Amino acid sequence: MTLISLRTLVLLINNTESRKYSGRLYIVATPIGNLQDFSPRAISTLQQVDLIAAEDTRHSGYLLKQHDINTHCIALHEHNERQSAEKVIQSVKAGKNIALISDAGTPLVSDPGYHLVKLAHEAGIQVTPVPGPSAMITALSAAGLPTDRFCFEGFVPSKSGARKSFYQNYQNETRTMVFYETPHRIVDSLADLCEALSPDRVVVLARELTKTFETIRNDSAENLLTWVKADPNQQKGEIVLVVQGCSKPQITEISPETERILRLLMAELSLKQAVKLTVEITGERKKGVYRAALSVQR
Ligand code: SAM
Repeated sequence: MTLISLRTLVLLINNTESRKYSGRLYIVATPIGNLQDFSPRAISTLQQVDLIAAEDTRHSGYLLKQHDINTHCIALHEHNERQSAEKVIQSVKAGKNIALISDAGTPLVSDPGYHLVKLAHEAGIQVTPVPGPSAMITALSAAGLPTDRFCFEGFVPSKSGARKSFYQNYQNETRTMVFYETPHRIVDSLADLCEALSPDRVVVLARELTKTFETIRNDSAENLLTWVKADPNQQKGEIVLVVQGCSKPQITEISPETERILRLLMAELSLKQAVKLTVEITGERKKGVYRAALSVQR
C-alpha cells in the first residue's frame, strides 16, 4: 500500500468515526421556474433518499413525478416545522437519509428549514447541501449593480407604514440590497422606496426569473415606478428588487440641511471654523455637529 492510499484510509476511518449517525440530512435546491435548472445531483439525491420533507407535498409532487422521483414525501412547512423537524431528526438518527426541499429555489432562503438544520447540527447529524437556484442570487447576478458586498433582506413588509420605515432603515446602507416583493404590492412598494430612499436610486426589477416572461430592468426608482404603473403585466408573477447602495451615507445625528451647510463650509474652512459657523447658523448642538464633521472628514 502506498503512503498516499494509507493516508486516505486513515482519513476515511477518522471521518466515519466522527460521524455519529449513518443517516444524513440533505438540503436540496429545486428550480425557480425553468425545469432544466434541476441539477442531476439534486435529482439523483431525491431519487435515492428514504424520505423527502417538502414544504408543500402536492406542489412538489408534480416536479418530482416529472423527474421519475418516487420517494415518499412528508410535509414540513412554517406551521408544522417544529413537530415535523423532530420526526425527521429521529428518522435520521435511526439511519435514514432525508432530503429537505421547498416549493422553489433553495430551502431556508425565505423558506422553512432553519429549525430543522439547527436541530440536526445539535444532534450531530451530517448536513449535506445540494446547491442550485435561488431567486436572490439569480437576480443579483444579472442586475448590473456591485456584487462584491451585498445584503439580502427577505420580504418587504406588506403594510405601508411598516414598509416606509423599513426602507428608511436602508438610507445609509452602502451595500447592494436584495428584497423579495409580491406583484400586487409592487407599485406601492416602489412609491415608498422613492420616498424613503430617493427617486434617483438605481433599482433593478427582476421578475419571473428563468420563466417565459422573464423581465430584468435596471433604471431609477422613479422611472421604474412609472413603467410598472403603466403596464399591468409588470404587476404579475414573482419579483425580486435589487437596490443600489447609497454612495454618500447621510449623517443621521444632524438634519440633512445642517449636513449640507456643514459640507459646504468644510470645503472652504478648517474643521473647527466650519463647526462653529454651522452651529451659529443652524442652532444645532455643537457635539452632534462636531461628530458629523469628523465623519465627513473621514
Ligand atoms: N427559496 C426561494 C429562493 O431560494 O429564492 C425563495 C422563496 S420565497 C417564499 C418566494 C419569493 O422568492 C417570491 O415571492 C419572489 O420574491 C422570489 N422568487 C422566487 N422565484 C422567483 C422567480 N422565478 N423570479 C423572481 N422572483 C422569484
